[in-house]
Amino acid sequence: YPDQRDYHPVDSACWETKTPIPYLALARTFQAVESNSSRLRIQSILCNYLRSVLALSSPQELICSVYLTLNRLGPAWRGEELGVGEGVLIRALVQATGRSQKAIKDELYKVGDIGLVAESSRCTQRMMFKPSALTVEAVFSKLQEIARFTGCSSQQKKVEKISALLVACRDTETRYLIRGLSGKLRIRLQEQTVLTSLAHAVCLHEMERSGKCAKGEELKEKMDTAVQTLKSVYCELPDYERVIPALLEQGLEALPKFCCLTPGIPLKPMLAQPTKGLSEIFKRVDQAAISCEYKYDGERAQIHVIAPGKVRIFSRNQEDMTDKFPDVIDRLPRHLGNNVASCVLDSEVVARDTEKNQKLPFQVLTTRKRKGVSLEEIKVQVCVYAFDLLYLNGESLVHESFRRRSKIMRNSFKPVDGEFVFSEQKITSCTEDIQAFFEGSLKDQCEGLMIKTLDHNATYEISKRSFNWLKLKKDYLDGTGDTLDLVVVGAYQGTGKRTGNYGGFLLACYDPDSEEYQVICKTGTGFSDAQLEAQYNILKQHVIPIPKPYYSLGTCPAPDVWFDSNYVWEVKAADFSLSPIYPAAAGLADRERGISLRFPRFIRVREDKTPEDATTSEQIAHMYRSQQSVSGIITSTTGED
Ligand code: ATP
Repeated sequence: YPDQRDYHPVDSACWETKTPIPYLALARTFQAVESNSSRLRIQSILCNYLRSVLALSSPQELICSVYLTLNRLGPAWRGEELGVGEGVLIRALVQATGRSQKAIKDELYKVGDIGLVAESSRCTQRMMFKPSALTVEAVFSKLQEIARFTGCSSQQKKVEKISALLVACRDTETRYLIRGLSGKLRIRLQEQTVLTSLAHAVCLHEMERSGKCAKGEELKEKMDTAVQTLKSVYCELPDYERVIPALLEQGLEALPKFCCLTPGIPLKPMLAQPTKGLSEIFKRVDQAAISCEYKYDGERAQIHVIAPGKVRIFSRNQEDMTDKFPDVIDRLPRHLGNNVASCVLDSEVVARDTEKNQKLPFQVLTTRKRKGVSLEEIKVQVCVYAFDLLYLNGESLVHESFRRRSKIMRNSFKPVDGEFVFSEQKITSCTEDIQAFFEGSLKDQCEGLMIKTLDHNATYEISKRSFNWLKLKKDYLDGTGDTLDLVVVGAYQGTGKRTGNYGGFLLACYDPDSEEYQVICKTGTGFSDAQLEAQYNILKQHVIPIPKPYYSLGTCPAPDVWFDSNYVWEVKAADFSLSPIYPAAAGLADRERGISLRFPRFIRVREDKTPEDATTSEQIAHMYRSQQSVSGIITSTTGED
């Protein structure tokens, strides 16, 4: 805590005290992280860096350091994106190094990692003055400038800015700057590790400042409490620009008093675990009574009333969707009870046929424009199904039981049929009741039920896939299993009727530990002709010459084209099988073989999920293990569809 042997930027003399943090100190920290595989050592290396920042620099430099480490420009809801493709990076490299585009592309083809290509290319651009060394703050602010360029000459402006940064790079800085710009730092640092290291660093810093240094068990206890406090505060207020200054001014212990759930700042939603049937529900939820609710087939919407008349709506991914739902915003004041000044509601927005008074499937909702929707041009009407209340009038409710949250919600809002209603709910412990309610949900065009604990273990678990919420879908009971959300990484050219479009696709799951996309199957079924053509037109813009170095391919059949990992598709399969050729979840269910899908079928594009939200290898292994056919002897197939 932390390990003395680990890289320390100040000791390594690349950073003199009382000067702004050189970017080199952060780049060398990344290098040390990249060359270590132990989670504890990685935490310790980052902790050493952050302690130096705490001791020597400003809160702003700490915020920049954290964002650069997470490779982000700000919180998700601000939607800032660099918008830098491989082409722009290659042009900037040509400009800064004088190498030909062909030479760079050839090397990239061999090496696969544009960061390493940049590092091996010496800058030859002549400058009147030697550029000064890059600092963490300067690099972060240049990245923000790059993100802000829009319009017709924006690509050229980005090339100029990146090239100027490249010329100023020293040593290993180039590798991480270019990787960051390309969207993947590839140092296997997840946000949870960054939060742990930050909590450790602040805890040690506070002890050093107060002269009260703990050791052994006492130190461990303090560090663990620090991690718990910071992680739970960050869950409620996922905004480093608010949490870090408060952390430095108020200290760790007082932090929860100053940083709590705030309307206007979206939370990561609580998610549910799939279940196979009613018997599993009763095994899992050992309660006198549970809340069963209809599971609506729409889009998750977190509705924030910041103040009267000031409303924002956020997606499952904390994207700001306020512009997509002007009708919901317009009607909302009619649904707020007289006592509601501010609130955060969790809900599902569902498309509806107003003439037949019926719900419409999710696919219909996706035809609504995402931005700049005006009230007059709305064709797809929607109804909000509110199912949880996380905040009301200055008070966070996430630590309250679901029974209380649900009661407060149902007493504080005024439902209007077809516009804003509460989720259909039945509180019971009787199997027959649940069965009947489940059948009722299907008749009412829902996907099945959500089963929620009411009193014990019934708080709102932000950002967790929790067993306190179980989902029971018709498909699970049919024995066809849950759907998977997979990343499209390649395609095979179509033949026959599909000539001119892609005929089949290579799909991958995500492994957050290795930050890899592991291919799991190919699929060519489930598409209409129109969908195939639409997908061809979208995906052809994302073709890359060689697979990304973070694609794990096993020995699967190489596709005709590779794609950048930008799209997530929902896929349904008949079964899981062990596979000697697909590497997904290898080592988790079987020591060597991976897992593949039998008869995978395309269901829909998941626009609400990023590639990092795709089904993980751990979830795949779990699904494989729990499939009924794997009770005794494991039947292995190649996993070919
Ligand atoms: P799925 O594909 O099943 O929607 P998911 O990964 O998007 O999966 P899950 O946690 O697995 O999310 O399923 C819960 C989702 O169901 C919620 O994200 C929400 O959008 C939706 N939902 C519909 N009705 C309810 C309800 N009554 N309570 C909670 N969530 C609901």
